[in-house]
Amino acid sequence: MMKKTMTCIICPLGCRIEVEGERAQGYSCPRGRDWARQEAAAPMRILTTTVPLRGGEIVLLPVRTRGPVPKDRLWECLARANSLLVEAPVRVGQVVCPDLAGTGVDLIATRTVAEIGKD
Ligand code: SF4
Repeated sequence: MMKKTMTCIICPLGCRIEVEGERAQGYSCPRGRDWARQEAAAPMRILTTTVPLRGGEIVLLPVRTRGPVPKDRLWECLARANSLLVEAPVRVGQVVCPDLAGTGVDLIATRTVAEIGKD
């Protein structure tokens, strides 16, 4: 079994964690241990980006995935997000693309944007 060494990104402490199979050491809390095991087995990330917005008071809508997606599918998810054109108005938390790139995770707006010329 190969040993992987990583720096935990869950909190600013940045513990150095070694993972070998199900065994992990160097973590200071269960969250870090679970993150490191997941990171070693199948890394996941939240995608944050912007998508084009039509008819709103801004032209790029900030969005993120509702939960983490597989790290090796981030480019595919980004390509799908880049292909979107969202219509204003938009509410924060609104789903702008369900099941992003077949990951089972929704892409949601992180900002409310009114329709241009309306409140
Ligand atoms: S292991 Fe726990 S304490 Fe250490 S960086 Fe990760 S979350 Fe923070």
